[in-house]
Amino acid sequence: MSLKHKVGIIGGGIVGSTAAFYLSQEPTIDVTLFDDGTGQASSAAAGIISPWLSQRRNKEWYFLAREGAKFYTQYMSDLSRIVDTQNIYHKTGTLLYKKTPKLLDKLESIAHKRLVDAPEIGDISHLSDKEINQLYPFITSRDDALFITGGAKIDGEQLINGIHSILKKNNQLIKTSVSKIEYMNHQWKVHTKHDILMFDSLILSVGAWLPQLLEPLHYHVDIRPQKGQLIEVQSNLSTGDLPVIMPVGESDIIPFYDGKILIGATHENDEGFNLTPDHTQLEHLKLMASDTINSLAELPITRHRVGTRAYTSDFLPFFGEVRDLKNLWVASGLGSSGLTTGPIIGKILVDWLLQKETNFDSYKAQPNNYIKPITWEEL
Ligand SMILES: Cc1cc2nc3c(=O)[nH]c(=O)nc-3n(C[C@H](O)[C@H](O)[C@H](O)COP(=O)(O)OP(=O)(O)OC[C@H]3O[C@@H](n4cnc5c(N)ncnc54)[C@H](O)[C@@H]3O)c2cc1C
Repeated sequence: MSLKHKVGIIGGGIVGSTAAFYLSQEPTIDVTLFDDGTGQASSAAAGIISPWLSQRRNKEWYFLAREGAKFYTQYMSDLSRIVDTQNIYHKTGTLLYKKTPKLLDKLESIAHKRLVDAPEIGDISHLSDKEINQLYPFITSRDDALFITGGAKIDGEQLINGIHSILKKNNQLIKTSVSKIEYMNHQWKVHTKHDILMFDSLILSVGAWLPQLLEPLHYHVDIRPQKGQLIEVQSNLSTGDLPVIMPVGESDIIPFYDGKILIGATHENDEGFNLTPDHTQLEHLKLMASDTINSLAELPITRHRVGTRAYTSDFLPFFGEVRDLKNLWVASGLGSSGLTTGPIIGKILVDWLLQKETNFDSYKAQPNNYIKPITWEEL
């Protein structure tokens, strides 16, 4: 009989897969990841890791995003023990545009202030359109931009596939949907279509789908879905070392490998869990991006991706314990920066589960602001 602590993780996006990876390295833990993959945000995502110049004012979010971006170096080094990370993560810098020269100056001064606590930002340069043109002749925008060398890109799809393939080999991944969870005799029962499995602890990292697992246990969950779409085009540029380009608006340009360029993404609040591509929106993304690189307008869309982001009503993520639900850990609400914060959130959940201290212990009770018991009167 196994004396190992059995941990079930439901949801194999970036949070759940990271947690599963770290737990799979622990000799005292027996981990199983459940994932049905439908609508997953992590695999659909664009992959920009560059939180320092965000003008979001919330300090908790910024601290988490900054630490999340910093954690990537350790994360990739840890992962590289079992996954080929060569084409997954690249620090090639970020080029940022703003509506007016005044706003660009403001951004530059924010960057210099934040550099003190975030040396990961790297070198900061204000580039004129001519300087940009010398470095990247295919960029046709006539505006100045800010360049930071610390910005990075991550291929969410490759990252998830890499971790899943190792877990699958070790029989630690079940590609299925969990229909129900319940707590009985000090254990969590996980119901799938074909099985009922028992665990000592559970991590729920199901993104936008958290209400569906917690409402049957009589909890309200402050999470709503947001549809995100992006496109891929194939160029003849040598894209591997190109920076991420963030023009004004929604159409960020993320050059990947072998000429592949991602453009996105949309933020659609009224579409629920709809995963149907909207070709008008997809063409619009391309059109917007071609304001910065004219030649993009001529390239056919080779692929599109659609995913569902999870949002709380105050746009902040949460992760930690739910009061009165023993040995149950949750994370959700990562919104549009979850590739940046997801790995560190997955790692912190693992540290907490292993009863280690972290710099984030004050976040532990946060889920209770978003997950509330349904009262008798409401039933
Ligand atoms: C188009 C797009 C572009 C983005 N671009 C960026 C970016 O540039 N930078 C950035 O930092 N972030 C970006 N994001 C945000 C980021 O992708 C997400 O915040 C993050 O991936 C969320 O990770 P997660 O693990 O919480 O959830 P998800 O990745 O959504 O994973 C949840 C998983 O749980 C599974 N699941 C749900 N219910 C069940 C169940 N009952 N049983 C089994 N499995 C279940 C789902 O199928 C899914 O696989 C983008 C998102 C989108 C959609």
